[in-house]
Amino acid sequence: MTTEIYLDANATSSVLPAAIAAAAFAMREGYGNPSSAHACGVKARAMLDAVRHSAQRVLGVGPGRLLFTSGATEGIQTAVLSALCAIRARRQAGLPVGQYLLYGATEHKAVPESLAHWNDLLDLKLTLRALPVDGDGRHDLAALRALAPDCAMLCTMAANNETGSVSELAAIEAVLLASASTAYWMVDSVQALGKLALNLCATRIDYAPFSGHKLYAPKGVGMLYVREGSPLTPLMMGGGQEGGLRSGTENMSGIAALGAVLAALEDGHTFRSHAQMTGMRDRIADALRLALPGIVFNTPFAHALPSTLNFSVPGFASGELLDLFDAAGVRVSAGSACSSAKAAPSYVLEAMGLPAWRCGAAVRMSFGPLVDEAFIDAACARIARCGAALRAAALIDSEQGALRDAGLIQLGCDGACSWLVTDPDSGSVIIIDARAELCARIATYVRCQRYRVRAMLDTGVDSGGAAARASLRHLLAGQFDHAASADANGWPDVSEPIMLGDATLADGLRIGARVLVRLGAGPGAGISYLLGTCNDGRLDAQDVQFAFTGAGMLPGGLDDAMPIATLRSAVQRLATLMHGATLLCPSHDAQQRCCSTLATEAHGRGALAGLLALQPRLAGAALPAMDGVMQLDAGALARFLATHPDAQLIDVREVYEHAAGAAQTLGGRTARNVPLSQLAAQLAHWLSAPQRPLVLYCRSGKRSARAAQLLHRLGYQNAWHVTGCIAQAGAAELAIAA
Ligand code: PLP
Repeated sequence: MTTEIYLDANATSSVLPAAIAAAAFAMREGYGNPSSAHACGVKARAMLDAVRHSAQRVLGVGPGRLLFTSGATEGIQTAVLSALCAIRARRQAGLPVGQYLLYGATEHKAVPESLAHWNDLLDLKLTLRALPVDGDGRHDLAALRALAPDCAMLCTMAANNETGSVSELAAIEAVLLASASTAYWMVDSVQALGKLALNLCATRIDYAPFSGHKLYAPKGVGMLYVREGSPLTPLMMGGGQEGGLRSGTENMSGIAALGAVLAALEDGHTFRSHAQMTGMRDRIADALRLALPGIVFNTPFAHALPSTLNFSVPGFASGELLDLFDAAGVRVSAGSACSSAKAAPSYVLEAMGLPAWRCGAAVRMSFGPLVDEAFIDAACARIARCGAALRAAALIDSEQGALRDAGLIQLGCDGACSWLVTDPDSGSVIIIDARAELCARIATYVRCQRYRVRAMLDTGVDSGGAAARASLRHLLAGQFDHAASADANGWPDVSEPIMLGDATLADGLRIGARVLVRLGAGPGAGISYLLGTCNDGRLDAQDVQFAFTGAGMLPGGLDDAMPIATLRSAVQRLATLMHGATLLCPSHDAQQRCCSTLATEAHGRGALAGLLALQPRLAGAALPAMDGVMQLDAGALARFLATHPDAQLIDVREVYEHAAGAAQTLGGRTARNVPLSQLAAQLAHWLSAPQRPLVLYCRSGKRSARAAQLLHRLGYQNAWHVTGCIAQAGAAELAIAA
């Protein structure tokens, strides 16, 4: 069974088996230098010529030139350098050349970056200008018409790598011809190869770069088409290879592999046709619609490559969907692979004028023409599995209900946190510090879990919580425990008096077997809430499990904006009402520290430590100095599990990720899911029980490192984290079943 569903072909593709064989053959038997005069060289030259002829036929090169390059980026450089040198020569000869270096606003970054680079190096002082596109990603022809007479070079792509949007090249050509433009025209054809019919010599296109690794050839080989008569300035000078136009001994194994791909394009049966790919794309789109209600496709299919789907799902960041698909073994990307390290919105979708949420939430699925129906069946099954995982995690509505949660959930957004105190047994929830951005997710969660809302509270004085609460009241109409009126911070007037550890009385609100107590922190310092188990109307310090402390007390510090005197009394009072291991749950967590304890803070270096230093109950609780975290790589993990039979394997990925993959077992142990968002709830148990070894893992090792650091900070010394993903660590043992 296929364990990996690779749907990221626009980033790169696997290598065609025939291409691997051709490359191996070239290295084994055809290793001669095609410039050598002896038989080995002649044999290599024959292979080189054969591949070039095949490329000339496939691309419709006609009388034009076809150079082998290292890839599209090199082809783009060569085209830009050639055009700009010719523009300079024309200008020096007193001919009009135009002022603009015009490029489509959705071009791959290689294009504007190369234009800027060579414009600078050649000191041409031409003006770079982005040609706008419409909402479908197609070039604004009216703008082109206006700019064409003053255009020195025009760069447009055949099809967009992020959206698959296919350019109207014939219409662009008509504009250039009608305006008698002398502009050199480059068409980045990387995404067109194997997906669109090409007959370059029948067009006005001057330059067309291609890349092997986007269509089943290896990385490091590409092609550049140059129209007959169009200027060509070598990027690299040397031994005079490629007719002196691209020096350097040819990448013969890469070219041989590319030859096998070109042969497959010519044989007419290795690859799927446009119509077949369209049918496959439609099947994937249907599966996505079923799995992800509300999904919006970001390019109309009628104008897109049949092999690319770009979509956004309301309420989900692209990173979340990527994690989900990855957990199910489906490899997709957010926008383009080059920019996926930064969580920036897609500039391509922004250029198309799409709403901000769609630009920031886009996911791209792309496949190549080698796929077959069985692959699409498997892909659709995995997509369905992803939808089921989101339903299980109560993130999209479902009839079936969702998995039970641990009683406390932390949701984050831009450094701010919302907390849900839940009681699955009684089916109730208290929402603390609702954020406008998280309202939709909270509402779906509460609705899917069929919770009734006991209260919606704020810790801050002016945190904008009232608007978020109003929004939730609207979204969750009918799911409130009572219609009682509430004060400005959301506290309902149905509370009961609870005796605290310092023998004072405070207002309390029951949620299942626990009680939430409100503490006014003094003017300007907001409100804190204590959550714990109440005995006979008393909430003693040792029974307080969690404290929601607002912005005043953040893990690792204090809110500088608050008056220190106010904070001192608030912090010192809190310290008398709870114990050293009570978890402080902040309203802000910019450093992603999740939560903290008074004991940790008292031993830290922040201002809070100063305020807590004199607390006698905390002074003695020595904590280990743990800056580094105990790490396990693949080899160490196997040894660790073998020598620690009591070690527990913990998957800290979110519920939907855990549910999307198969049960993960390693060293005979099945992983338990403790998602980061529910870690606080579990910490309360781990910190109060004997410390057994915990082996934490996630997708990349980042979240497990964070969780392990937290455990160490809080004094749990027996937590380990797996560097990299568990799949790498235990590849032989793990399988993701469809
Ligand atoms: N142009 C487009 C449209 C692409 O998708 C890519 C690949 O990311 C490139 C150019 C750069 O190609 P290469 O990786 O061969 O340099």
